[in-house]
Amino acid sequence: MPEHEVAEQPAVPEPVVRPEGHAGPSEHVVAVVGAGPRGTSFLERLLAHLEELPAGGRSQAPWLRVLVIDSAVHGPGRVWDPEQSPLHLMNTPASYPTVAPVGRTGEQLAPSSISLSFSQWRRRRGLVDEDAPDTDFPRRADYGRYLAEMHRQAVQTLQDRPGVAVESIHASAIALEREDADDAASASLLTLDDGTVRRADSVVLAVGHVPARLNDAGARTASAAEELGLRHVAPAVPTTSTSSPSPRRDRADPRDGPELLRSDDPRHRGPRRALPLEPAGRGRAAL
Ligand SMILES: Cc1cc2nc3c(=O)[nH]c(=O)nc-3n(C[C@H](O)[C@H](O)[C@H](O)COP(=O)(O)OP(=O)(O)OC[C@H]3O[C@@H](n4cnc5c(N)ncnc54)[C@H](O)[C@@H]3O)c2cc1C
Repeated sequence: MPEHEVAEQPAVPEPVVRPEGHAGPSEHVVAVVGAGPRGTSFLERLLAHLEELPAGGRSQAPWLRVLVIDSAVHGPGRVWDPEQSPLHLMNTPASYPTVAPVGRTGEQLAPSSISLSFSQWRRRRGLVDEDAPDTDFPRRADYGRYLAEMHRQAVQTLQDRPGVAVESIHASAIALEREDADDAASASLLTLDDGTVRRADSVVLAVGHVPARLNDAGARTASAAEELGLRHVAPAVPTTSTSSPSPRRDRADPRDGPELLRSDDPRHRGPRRALPLEPAGRGRAAL
C-alpha cells in the first residue's frame, strides 16, 4: 500500500461538478447511485483500474463520464455523519472498515494513488499511536471524516485524468429503466427526484440499507403505542431519529404510565394496558 499524505480538509466536501459537455458517440457514462462507503470504494477501484491502463490504452479508451448520485453527503452517505457526537462509537473494531483494499485483498488488487485504509488514515491524523492495535471501537464521526476525504480525493483524482469527468449530483434516483424496453443491452435511463433524467451505459447500485416502512406487525405496535401514550421509534439511522424519552405531559409521574407486560400476564384481561410485542420481520423497501 503506498504511503500517502492526506491534506487537511473540511469535514464535509463541497460538491464537485465538471459541467462542460464532451458528449459524443464515444462517451461512456457510468452512474453510481449511492455515495456512501460502497460507492466511494467503487470510485477508488475505478481510479486504480484507469491508473493501470498503459498510456497508449488510455488515449484509445472511450471518453468517460461518471455520475455520482446521492442526496446525502457524498462519502459519509446517510450513515456516517462526520458532525455527529463523538460519543457515538462504531460497532466494529478499527481494523474492519475501509474503502481501500487492505490485508489479503490488498495483496490481490493493485492500489490506486489514493489508497488508504481507515487504519492508516487515523494514524496519519494522529488519532491513535503508530503502534496502537486496531482492536478499539472508533468514533463514528471519525469514520465519516475518513469517508469524506477519500471520496473527495477519488473524485478529484479521477477528474484530473484526461478524458474523465465526474458529476456529483445531490439527488435521489427514483426510477431505473432501459432506454429500449425490448433491448436488454440498451442504455439505462435514471429518473432523479429533481425531475431530470440521466442516460447511463452502466449503472452501479450502491444504495446500502434503503429506508423501510413498517410491516403489519410494526404498524400494530406503533398504533398500540400511540393508544397507550408511548412513543414508538421506527427502524432508522439512530443519529437522525428522535429517540429521547418524552413522558406524556398530562402525567405527573412517568412511572404511572403503561407497562410492558408479558403476553401471559393475567393483567392482559380487561382494558388494554400492555403493548403487544411481536417480531417485526423485514419491512418492504421504499425505493
Ligand atoms: C444505523 C447503522 C449503523 C451501522 N453501524 C455500523 C458499524 O458500526 N460498523 C460497521 O462496520 N457497519 C455498520 N453499519 C453497516 C453499514 O451498512 C456499512 O458500514 C456501510 O455504511 C455500508 O455502506 P454502503 O455504501 O453499502 O451503504 P450506505 O452506507 O447505506 O450508503 C448507501 C448510500 O446510498 C444512498 N442511496 C440510497 N438509495 C438511493 C437512491 N435511490 N438514490 C441515490 N442515493 C441513494 C444513501 O443515501 C446512502 O448514502 C451500520 C449501518 C447502519 C444503517
